[in-house]
Amino acid sequence: MQNIFEKLKQAELLGRGGANFPTWLKWKAVKDAKADKKYIICNASEGEPSVFKDEYLLKNYPTEVVNGVKIALENISGSFAYIYLRKDLYRKFKRRLKKIIGESPIELFREPGGYLCGEETTLIESMEGNRCEPRIKPPYPPQFGFENQPTLTNNVETFYYASKIAKGEYRKTRFFCISGKVKNRGVYELPASSTVKEILIKTKNLPLNKFFVQVGGGACGEILAEKGLENFVCGAGTIIVYDYKTDAIKLMKKWINFYINENCGKCAPCREGIYRVKEMLGGKNIDWDLMKEILETMQKTSFCGLGTSMPTAFLSLMEHKNIK
Ligand code: SF4
Repeated sequence: MQNIFEKLKQAELLGRGGANFPTWLKWKAVKDAKADKKYIICNASEGEPSVFKDEYLLKNYPTEVVNGVKIALENISGSFAYIYLRKDLYRKFKRRLKKIIGESPIELFREPGGYLCGEETTLIESMEGNRCEPRIKPPYPPQFGFENQPTLTNNVETFYYASKIAKGEYRKTRFFCISGKVKNRGVYELPASSTVKEILIKTKNLPLNKFFVQVGGGACGEILAEKGLENFVCGAGTIIVYDYKTDAIKLMKKWINFYINENCGKCAPCREGIYRVKEMLGGKNIDWDLMKEILETMQKTSFCGLGTSMPTAFLSLMEHKNIK
């Protein structure tokens, strides 16, 4: 009989938190790490605007999610698990989750910070009672994670599918969040290889009027117009539909206000870059060449994924709207 590592490998499950790392490799790395104590963390701190699939799964399939964590516990010896919940999710689901967890060595942990706590090493720092800032990598958490012990961190959807794979019920699907200017906002489970257009058609959300979409996340996701509708949906599995006439500057202001609040200030390219972009968006004559230069520098030099991914939305919107 196949063990869970082989099953995860055969299923080709990729982490559903956005990084798309092969799940079996991460599980195996923690299993093979030499240590008496190991940790498993279910990351339920999704904090990007328009990403709400983990909440949907905790509400509708909490037993499957907890079961995924239990499977990791059973297969990675010497381990203890945490379910790390965004503040409001902790309030909403703690009773039900505790009931499902029962006597298993799994504890709930209430996230102390904001969006950045969803980043693996920031999450670990916050659990150790430190400032919510990312760690330098390497070393990677599967070798040195929580309390410097090997740590497996996967998000809610990944544990949900680990449970399905263990039972032989995985059909290569994933959950997509659809929002914005659509009739049928919600979370849909569809083939993981669906294109943007296929998803909008299947969910009866393909607009009749001209539109564009943001794919992957509601702050850092890429803007795609007609040609891009044949692309696969990456990142956190999100599609936001915008009316074609949506004001680009208003949209950028919305994003930048999110990033002003959520960046941790640890590195200069991101901290100063976000500040400058906000300042420029508030002015009258925007120097778009300079803004592009700032965004590209952030992409290349920021310390963590927040700063390197944030420019994607801005640069792709500038390209789509032909802003120069
Ligand atoms: S990129 Fe931004 S969020 Fe990440 S460490 Fe630097 S300042 Fe903090």
